[in-house]
Amino acid sequence: MNDNKAPRKSCESFLNDAFEHLEVDPEMQQLLRSPYREVRFELPLKRDDGSSSLFYGYRVQHNQSRGPFKGGLRYHKEVNLEHFVALAEIMTWKTSLLDLPFGGAKGGIDCDPIQLSSNELETLTKRYVQRISMLIGPDRDIPAPDMGTGPREMAWIVDAFSLIEAFNLAVATGKPIELGGAKGRLEATGYGVALITSMAADELGIDISAAKAAIQGFGNVGSNAARFLHERGTKIIAVSDYSCGLYNEVGLDIDRLVDMANHKQKGGKLSECSGDFKKITNDELLQLDVDVLIPAALGGVINKDNVENVKAKMIVEAANMPITCDADTNLNDKGVVVIPDILANAGGVTVSYLEWVQNRQGYQWEKQKIMDELERRLKRSWEEVKSRARRDELNYRKAAYVIALERIIKAIHLRGF
Ligand code: NAD
Repeated sequence: MNDNKAPRKSCESFLNDAFEHLEVDPEMQQLLRSPYREVRFELPLKRDDGSSSLFYGYRVQHNQSRGPFKGGLRYHKEVNLEHFVALAEIMTWKTSLLDLPFGGAKGGIDCDPIQLSSNELETLTKRYVQRISMLIGPDRDIPAPDMGTGPREMAWIVDAFSLIEAFNLAVATGKPIELGGAKGRLEATGYGVALITSMAADELGIDISAAKAAIQGFGNVGSNAARFLHERGTKIIAVSDYSCGLYNEVGLDIDRLVDMANHKQKGGKLSECSGDFKKITNDELLQLDVDVLIPAALGGVINKDNVENVKAKMIVEAANMPITCDADTNLNDKGVVVIPDILANAGGVTVSYLEWVQNRQGYQWEKQKIMDELERRLKRSWEEVKSRARRDELNYRKAAYVIALERIIKAIHLRGF
């Protein structure tokens, strides 16, 4: 996503559509457009080899009308404040759509985690917490994993926060199971993507057990979405990561590729895989003639430059904001169905909520209870979006935004605007 303004432009455009539909007054629009708080701070790091590097940390807190700020922590060398503002805003709509008692936030560090040792990452993460400890906490702002972070980083956050304040597991979600993590959190987002994809396919008359899918990004979300769709019989004909794409017209051996992806911490990448497939580029993957295309890596990958070549019948936004607003209009005009990020990838934040609840109860739920609750909530949200889309003749993105906005506006009025 090279254009720094693109994510915010897309957010604005999607939001304006919903504002217009709901006839939201200008003062409320202004309040909902701007983030509550944006911070950027220096993170100097002494490297293992004795040299020094300077990184920047970010946290954007968008809205807390319905509960504490909530949002992931991204470690990626191309992040900046503009990206985080857009991503924090998306979190506000997502938590509201799923009717979770949270607001929206996002943050991270402009580092490439693959280039840093575990020791360096631990120091950087703990320093990040030191800088913003007064802004986060179970009732203030609760970070979770996003690109480049996972349970390990969340455990470091608990440790750093506990040294500054009191011990509290509910300060972060997506933690290791042994440290208060929810069973099922790791695969929750990918599971949700597969579930929502199946329900949307049903609605469109696509038989998911015979459908062809391509997935961009083979990290936590992409690999789990692939695994759960594969279990439903979907032929995953292409997957990719930052290194390359793999393609097989009759379907890839997903179990083997997932095994390999699990060794990512050790440097595993798809370009090093050998097997019965052809190597393709990420651009080629996005242009495949498939029933379902699932972008599950970066934002803005489907844009005005490549949208004309997209042939998928349905696109499920597993990543946050993978489609720019220009491309979205084009896809709508062509009749391509888009399942928006705030619904498609909401499985993660839903289980994060359950993790936060269990931490506050001092209790650990069984995995089945968590997966049942996840499924119930995702099905309910899908039904709400589907009904609203039908009733008001809206596409799914607009219907989802309208539902989310209505809840937030109601909360703001109840609290006193
Ligand atoms: P991850 O770090 O586990 O995986 C990211 C994947 O994207 C990796 O396979 C990586 O190689 C690939 N990638 C990176 N740069 C790429 C590029 N230029 N081209 C193609 N592939 C590239 O991250 P994740 O947790 O799977 O998150 C993926 C997306 O899903 C992000 O947009 C994130 O915001 C969104 N998301 C994640 C969660 C979650 O629970 N992890 C929840 C909601 C949304």
